[in-house]
Amino acid sequence: MFTVPNLDYDYDQLGPHISGDIMKLHHSKHHQAYVDKLNAAIVSAPELQGRTLDELLTSLDTLPVEVQQAIRNHGGGHYNHSLFWQWLSPEGGGEPSGELAARLIERYGSYQQFVDEFTTKSMSVFGSGWVWLQPNMDILTTANQDTPLMTGEQAPLLGLDVWEHAYYLDYKNKRDDYVSAWWNVVNWHTAEQRFSDLAK
Ligand code: MN
Repeated sequence: MFTVPNLDYDYDQLGPHISGDIMKLHHSKHHQAYVDKLNAAIVSAPELQGRTLDELLTSLDTLPVEVQQAIRNHGGGHYNHSLFWQWLSPEGGGEPSGELAARLIERYGSYQQFVDEFTTKSMSVFGSGWVWLQPNMDILTTANQDTPLMTGEQAPLLGLDVWEHAYYLDYKNKRDDYVSAWWNVVNWHTAEQRFSDLAK
């Protein structure tokens, strides 16, 4: 059975950028619901027991049709959120360093131009979805809880949840204010580690 991972920090440690109220609701209710519904889907299709989340999400079209949509939505939700918590830190913010920084600057001209492009993409998501920085330095968006793995892309280096549940309590409809604040709690160490792990 899948479980919601613990956070490496307390709910209220990302304030004022992301409040403890949002973090608690997002982690203990929204993420828990994805996990519960993913587990229910696996219970209803026992032949899938033992498959890893990556295996499920990279082979959606081969899964029993009765559970495909549930695993896409809730498996995607579990995958995306499990990463999202690792991309946040009370000591976050600043700029990336090392090879990742070099590649971003090579692609976008400067760190700030990357931030601007990522922010523009995050504002372009209609309704609910995610924004991703990929290992090839592309910035992708997905709808709902879709994740890049589902379309054969590599696992993302960094991602931002732009569902309203991620910011409405703090920022109401102002997604741009949420995105601006989010840069202050981005855990670049996680992104750098994911990038360097790819070279191994
Ligand atoms: Mn979310």
